[in-house]
Amino acid sequence: MVDRVRLYAAPTTQADADELASWLRERLSVAFEEPPSVTVEERFLDRYATEDLPREFASARVTSPYDRETGSTMLGIVRYEERALEDPTREGGVLYDGLAVQRALNGRLPENDADLSTAHVVLLDRALGTWGDHDGRWHKRVSVLGQPALCSVPGLYEAPAKPEGYYKEQQKHAMLAGDAPPREVLENQVDGDFLIEDDPRTTDALKGYVLGAVHYLTTGEAFCETEGCRLYNAHYHETLVEAQLRDPAFCPEHARRYDPDGRRTDGSAAE
Ligand SMILES: [Zn+2]
Repeated sequence: MVDRVRLYAAPTTQADADELASWLRERLSVAFEEPPSVTVEERFLDRYATEDLPREFASARVTSPYDRETGSTMLGIVRYEERALEDPTREGGVLYDGLAVQRALNGRLPENDADLSTAHVVLLDRALGTWGDHDGRWHKRVSVLGQPALCSVPGLYEAPAKPEGYYKEQQKHAMLAGDAPPREVLENQVDGDFLIEDDPRTTDALKGYVLGAVHYLTTGEAFCETEGCRLYNAHYHETLVEAQLRDPAFCPEHARRYDPDGRRTDGSAAE
C-alpha cells in the first residue's frame, strides 16, 4: 500500500515539480479514501549521488542504436559523467539504458524508505531507452515504470516520433543547405503538433506520466490502451499531444477513478 509519493525535481528542465505535485494530489484525492501524501524533493542525483555513480552512468550509456551492449568506463567518459552529475546543463545527447539507471538509483534509496509504501518518482534530465527484443534496437522512453519510476524530460521531446512532414523538411533542408534546418522553419512548415526542447507545455504534458508511475505502483497496471487517455503511452507526438493536452483527460474507465467530474471543452460532463 503506497502511503507516500516522493517526487524529485529536475531543476534545470522546464518540468515544474510543484505544479506536477499539486495536480497529482488532486487526482489521488479523488481515487483514494486515504490518499498518499505527495512531497516535492530536491534533485535525486544531488541527494543520492555517490562516488561510484558516474561509473554506473558511464556503463549504462547506449553506444549504438543497434547494440544491446552498453557502456564505456574509459576514464574520459567517467569524468564526463562526473561533470554531468554536478552540472546537468553540460549534459546532452547521450542515451542511457533506462533499466540500468533505474537499478543504480534503486540501490541508492534509503533503506527505511525503499519498500513500496513510498512511491519514488524521479524527474530526470537524461534521455532514457529500453532495448526492444522484437526489433533489435533501442527505443527512447518518456518513462520507465518501477521503483523508482523515472520520467525523462528530454524523453518527452525525443521519444515519440514527430510528424512525417518534420522529417521531410529536415531532409529537404539538408539537401539544399547541407545542415539542419532551424527550429522555426520546422515548426512553421510542418503540419501537426509536436513538442520541442524546453517546450512551454512540458509540465502539462508530463502530468499523465507522473500519474502513470504512481498508478503502476498502486494498481500493478502499466499504460492504458486507449488513445487520448493521460495514461496512454504515445509513440507519436500527435497522439501524445492528444493524450496529455486535449480534453477529455482520461478514458471513461480512468476518468471514473481520477476525474469523475471531468468536463469536456464543450462544457458537458465526461461520460
Ligand atoms: Zn485510460
